[in-house]
Amino acid sequence: MAAKYSLAQANITLDESATMPVCSSCHRIIPPHEHGTAFPCPNCGQVIIVRCKKCRKLGVPYVCPNCGFKGP
Ligand SMILES: [Zn+2]
Ligand SMILES: [Zn+2]
Repeated sequence: MAAKYSLAQANITLDESATMPVCSSCHRIIPPHEHGTAFPCPNCGQVIIVRCKKCRKLGVPYVCPNCGFKGP
């Protein structure tokens, strides 16, 4: 029972890490039930900046991986 459970958990983690957004500020995977925000970089527009609810609320700065733009 326990082994089956942990295997299911591992499969979910692998699947979701490939498709789920990662916060651009804290690099945490944002789960589907958490309403983060995603928007193109205001400077270059080439990268989708993703922010989790926590970082958005706290105003944690992000850095665009493409152009280095920093912003809240
Ligand atoms: Zn975050
Ligand atoms: Zn940029």
